Amino acid sequence: MKRILVLGAGGFIGSHLVTRLKQEGNYVIGIDLKYPEFSKSTADEFVIGDLRDPNVCEAAIKDEVDEIFQLAADMGGAGYLFTGENDFNVMHNSALINLNVAHYAIQNKISKVFFSSSACIYPQFNQTDPNNPNCEESSAYPAEPDSEYGWEKIFSERLYHAALRNYQLNVRVARFHNIYGPEGTWNSGKEKAPAALCRKVAMADQNGSIEIWGDGTQTRSFLYIDDCIDGILTLMNSDCTEVLNIGSEEMVTINRLAEIISEQAGKNISLEHIDGPIGVMGRNSENSLVKKSIGWSPKISLAEGLAKTYAWINAEVAKLKEKA
Ligand code: NAD
Repeated sequence: MKRILVLGAGGFIGSHLVTRLKQEGNYVIGIDLKYPEFSKSTADEFVIGDLRDPNVCEAAIKDEVDEIFQLAADMGGAGYLFTGENDFNVMHNSALINLNVAHYAIQNKISKVFFSSSACIYPQFNQTDPNNPNCEESSAYPAEPDSEYGWEKIFSERLYHAALRNYQLNVRVARFHNIYGPEGTWNSGKEKAPAALCRKVAMADQNGSIEIWGDGTQTRSFLYIDDCIDGILTLMNSDCTEVLNIGSEEMVTINRLAEIISEQAGKNISLEHIDGPIGVMGRNSENSLVKKSIGWSPKISLAEGLAKTYAWINAEVAKLKEKA
């Protein structure tokens, strides 16, 4: 039985990862500023702690820990990351967490550390054409992320790789591309496009309208949470120390994303385009390297994943309406 530390265990991906690690028979310790929002954590121990504080990291990252999954970050969707209002906190908070984690992981000779980077590290200049973005792993440099969130992630990728080169810290680094699914934040101001659009459609009348930021022609791909967890574990259990994309190659426009959700809800929704933060014009995962290196690719289609996510958010919206 492995003793595993999940940092950010109260978050969306972290809480799903804890459940999977428990199902696989591990002893799991979660740390976060908060408990998971929508269900009780399945971790054996759950520490409420601030990973910016070196004392919290020192107390948790002990040599008896076999593996660390580092998912804690100050993050959110476009409404949180692309307005500019949270730039300092996003960089400062996440960098402190990663500096602490890398330091104590080296000091305690932790056998393996997973770090969650992001597609937001890819240069803006390769993502101006919505039909043809380039997010191959090798295209990361020269770096020009479109957000401070992306700059912090690229710094931390480099930090963990420096730890590998200088101190033989056995790291695994993945660049996630828009992960979505049940029990992801949907109404906090930090939600991402799939959850925000599911909420808007769930709240709209049968023949209502919903607001879309920008003209909706910007493209993205979205990876269902179960595929993401499979990708994380496949990478962690491999020997690959290269940075890999963990995403879907099923690219859609934001307008199409809204249409799929409306169709699944059985509603006749019209789209009202308004000004708002939109990020780059095109982004899609490029999975050649991840397929070749660790043999992983997603299994769940966008339509299938959205159906499950919409059903969950629709039920959450119904609960909220009951309370009101
Ligand atoms: P999330 O916000 O749900 O989870 C992050 C967790 O980190 C939160 O529960 C938060 O409370 C915790 N945290 C933040 N600051 C902390 C601190 N100082 N001390 C302790 N805990 C702290 O986000 P998520 O979607 O689960 O993402 C997990 C990781 O994956 C993050 O590193 C994120 O940047 C990365 N990522 C996610 C996506 C995505 O689409 N969800 C895409 C790219 C990268």
